[in-house]
Amino acid sequence: MPTLPRCRLCQSEAVALVLTVRSHRMLRCADCGFVQVADRPSDAELVAIYGDGYFAPSKYRDESTLRAESQRRLALLGRYVQPGEGRRVLDAGCAIGDFVSHAKADYEVFGVDLSAHAVDEARRRNPELGDRLRAGRLESLEFPDVAFDAICLWDVIEHLWDPVSVCRALMDRLRPGGVLLLSTPAADAPIARIMGRFWAFMTPPEHLSFFTRRSLDFLARDLLRGSLLSCRRMGKRANVGFVLYKIRRIAPFLMPEAVVRSFRWPGLARLAVYVPTGDVQYAVVKKPPV
Ligand SMILES: [Zn+2]
Repeated sequence: MPTLPRCRLCQSEAVALVLTVRSHRMLRCADCGFVQVADRPSDAELVAIYGDGYFAPSKYRDESTLRAESQRRLALLGRYVQPGEGRRVLDAGCAIGDFVSHAKADYEVFGVDLSAHAVDEARRRNPELGDRLRAGRLESLEFPDVAFDAICLWDVIEHLWDPVSVCRALMDRLRPGGVLLLSTPAADAPIARIMGRFWAFMTPPEHLSFFTRRSLDFLARDLLRGSLLSCRRMGKRANVGFVLYKIRRIAPFLMPEAVVRSFRWPGLARLAVYVPTGDVQYAVVKKPPV
């Protein structure tokens, strides 16, 4: 039997093959619950995914659902860091700047993203932020003189081969008592278990690392030496057109053509709805005050 790699999170050898998704082997760790892609993607595969087209507007980019999502994230941030002048927040993996655009009135916001193309677009949309939006690796030491009150990792860690080293580097950039906020798919959500390889987030090699409540807890306490202040599962906002597209793709028998046609009323496809999938988890990790 070929040997499997250790769990990238807790280093346990108790990993088992649970799924194969388009030739990518997915392993689950019996000790911490972490689910990982077994084989590191090649640079060519990553370029194919994250080329300049990755952040190009898609027909599913819907400003109203994005606004609602940013609003939810801003409300979560506000529970831990009071808005105000000199309250510094880094959006790590800021993409084209949706969240910084939303948070800049309340906080002194900074953003970093690996994609120079995305950062150019984020700057175009937020010219007043200028040098506070930079292209670079998330774990690199951009803004070396700033200690952040909060660092946000929205839908980022599932994309990372080594989320631990990135999170550790970012914890170092927090002021004592600062918070790391993150959102990531919940691999232990019932819908994830039921859908298996057809789960909407099960998209290797774009997504490489999947967390459960237990593996997030292990990350926060054991690896980052912080405290897990909150870990909640939620659904997501999506427009009706996107939901129909997903249902048709995953389970076409649930969505006969006649039903799809009936939903093609002007405006309805763009109507934002809350989909209570419970497969997105929001976690808040606090750095010790001293
Ligand atoms: Zn593990």
